[in-house]
Amino acid sequence: MTPAARPAWVGLGSNLSDPVRQVLGATSELASLPETRLVRASGLFRSPPMGPRDQPDFINAVVLLQTCLEPLVLLDRLQLIEQAHGRQRARRWGERTLDLDLLVYGNERIDLPRLTVPHPGIPHRAFVLYPLVEVSPELEIPGYGSVAGLLAALPLEAVARRLEDPQ
Ligand code: ATP
Ligand code: CA
Ligand code: CA
Repeated sequence: MTPAARPAWVGLGSNLSDPVRQVLGATSELASLPETRLVRASGLFRSPPMGPRDQPDFINAVVLLQTCLEPLVLLDRLQLIEQAHGRQRARRWGERTLDLDLLVYGNERIDLPRLTVPHPGIPHRAFVLYPLVEVSPELEIPGYGSVAGLLAALPLEAVARRLEDPQ
């Protein structure tokens, strides 16, 4: 019997080698994963780097998938896509061609050495919450509450700008 498809939200980020192209390319690669359908993709958001300041701004997005892949299998796939985009692991929160984080997977709470879901960075990260609320405004994140509530609780200075928004 094939397992039921479940919703999975993936965060995309890039600040090297034409970040818009990296994020759009990764979105179509996610849509092509086996046993997976792309339900919705957010717009592209620009935000300052979270870690070291001496690196370019990031382009971020969030996609909602419907997938029969189990969480660790999905993580393997995300990491393969990162590698195909030339991802190098240098300094923590440093520059990268592509970062794919599994943000939320159905109602599951996972605490494994390789995988924590929901992703613990969600509540503090404007560059995740802005695109996430665009894709799923009603989302309740297991253990963290509503995405709208988390967005409202961000400090005022924490913003991610949609690329076509007026500055
Ligand atoms: P952060 O996780 O704080 O956003 P990062 O994305 O820069 O930091 P990475 O270097 O991309 O971190 O990943 C480090 C490890 O995090 C990965 O090897 C992976 O096993 C693990 N990991 C744990 N939970 C998750 C998750 N929900 N999504 C993606 N990777 C995860
Ligand atoms: Ca990340
Ligand atoms: Ca990551």
